[in-house]
Amino acid sequence: MAGVTGRFAPSPSGRMHLGNLLCSLLAWLSARHEGGRMVLRIEDLDAARCPRKFADLLEADLRWLGLFWDEGGSAGGPNGPYYQSERSEIYETYFETLMGMGLVYPCFCSRSQLHAASAPHRSDGTPVYSGACRGLPAEEVRRRAALRPPAWRLRVGEETVAFTDGHLGRYGEYLPDDCGDFVVRRGDGVFAYQLAVVVDDARMGVTQVVRGADLLQSTPRQLYLYKLLGLPAPEFYHLPLLLAPDGRRLSKRDGDVSLETLQSRFSPEEVVGRLAFAAHLLEKPEPVTAAALVKDFSWEKVPKEDILLPKGLFDGKGRQP
Ligand code: GLU
Repeated sequence: MAGVTGRFAPSPSGRMHLGNLLCSLLAWLSARHEGGRMVLRIEDLDAARCPRKFADLLEADLRWLGLFWDEGGSAGGPNGPYYQSERSEIYETYFETLMGMGLVYPCFCSRSQLHAASAPHRSDGTPVYSGACRGLPAEEVRRRAALRPPAWRLRVGEETVAFTDGHLGRYGEYLPDDCGDFVVRRGDGVFAYQLAVVVDDARMGVTQVVRGADLLQSTPRQLYLYKLLGLPAPEFYHLPLLLAPDGRRLSKRDGDVSLETLQSRFSPEEVVGRLAFAAHLLEKPEPVTAAALVKDFSWEKVPKEDILLPKGLFDGKGRQP
């Protein structure tokens, strides 16, 4: 059996925060524990929000933490480019394939139409698309397209897509009710995350995806695309979200510090040790290298429920800033 290939897939819209750091650490440990490779893909589809300087800083930050990768980012490799902003032509081919299958249609709905109070909502709060633009007559499409460029949606079939998450277990969605037709290309021409991530993970040979549980609900959509496009799907491990000590979303006030701040207070080993402690990989928040955690890493140790950041864990200063 071919070995494991994991990946970092950060969106560099700023410096990394504790949630991204924990995700990067676990993705790296999970792949390295299996003797696997790591790919770095920069998810800068929204190029205006993700300037290259943040991607460069991100690479420096991963290296500072001791999370080295084998392929990707500015170092390049055989499956590049590794910046999504440079991969539109590749996405275009797959988009054309879906078009050719008659599965994609233009959608002219405005944001307020999509969020209409009557729309059924997914459990994550986003509206399930009503299908309003499914089957618009060609003439109507032409008339509306002259006014503004449409987004493009994938027509989902009447089926359930279920999978077993390596950490969280079974999860599935009945596509028409739980998911709805979803956007694969935005009105401004940018390809949607759901399509790009599938194409990239498949073409970059990724076999193991580790990411936050906030993306669990994206997985059935992605598995559906893998199937339609005839691409091999990876295994998925979704890690619990890191929350403030009182269970709210992490904010600056609760100590959700950026790596920039952490670097002024702690050594890399102190940051890694504290993150590993928060994820139950260590019994005490003691300094450790990422490499030293590889051998004993196990998903069984990582909690399945949201992780509450232990109070004061990243306050103050470590011993060796
Ligand atoms: N780029 C996404 C993020 O930074 C991650 C996407 C994924 O892991 O599939 O949140």
